[in-house]
Amino acid sequence: MRRARSAIGATLITGLALLASCATSDPERIESFDPRVSSPGQRARIDAIRAQLAPVIAGQASAEALLLLERDELYRPLSTEDRAFLDEIRAQPGGDPEVGIPSGLAWVRVEGQVAHTSKGDHPIPLQLVTEPVRVAFDALDRAMRKEFGRGLLIGSAYRSPAYQLYLIVELLPRFDYSLQQTLPHVSLPGGSDHNRVDRLGIDFVSESGVDLEYSHAADFMALPEYRWLLANAGRFGFEAEPVPGGGPPTSPWHWRYVGTR
Ligand SMILES: [Zn+2]
Repeated sequence: MRRARSAIGATLITGLALLASCATSDPERIESFDPRVSSPGQRARIDAIRAQLAPVIAGQASAEALLLLERDELYRPLSTEDRAFLDEIRAQPGGDPEVGIPSGLAWVRVEGQVAHTSKGDHPIPLQLVTEPVRVAFDALDRAMRKEFGRGLLIGSAYRSPAYQLYLIVELLPRFDYSLQQTLPHVSLPGGSDHNRVDRLGIDFVSESGVDLEYSHAADFMALPEYRWLLANAGRFGFEAEPVPGGGPPTSPWHWRYVGTR
């Protein structure tokens, strides 16, 4: 009986643990994943994973291939333990490991955009959107231009959940290897609007390049373009991300296409 009870207890504890859904993780071999802080061993693992992923990213044949990176390809050079570690990140609350790249979708390529900044021209790499987003963006851009002679650029749009995972791993060292500290800057795979075509995330950039770095929220909010978006974007099917607890948005450039209702 004691054995049976402890087995049930263990199951409950496992069920409650953050990394519970990772069936491949072996507690004998892999340290528990703590989203707040990484142990020295986990920091070393993250560094090793980053080193192995760098050639995968650099080896993509095109910008489009990178945005549509599949998880199989990202995982190819990694050991079983490294893959289990990344699976634990994917399974964190706020992510959605079930979200994949939609199949059979005709992506629309957004190419040739250039921001004219005070430091010179800044070409924006290829972006992928869906046809409804392209049509809605063109209408929004036209309306804005008509009103005050300037439109917007699409600085960032679709990226696959696997590429999103890569971005997290790449950013972890910048935030002391803490997932908790990294997540305000980049969402978990499947949890980001940029990974989803049902509410595709678009990061707008002004024609003068505000904010190409996505780190100066106040600068973007000071743009007349931002005020125009607040008043008009909804007419074209774009909505701002709700800010938990109200307050000013941390990513005012980030909007998502939900269609007109
Ligand atoms: Zn965004």
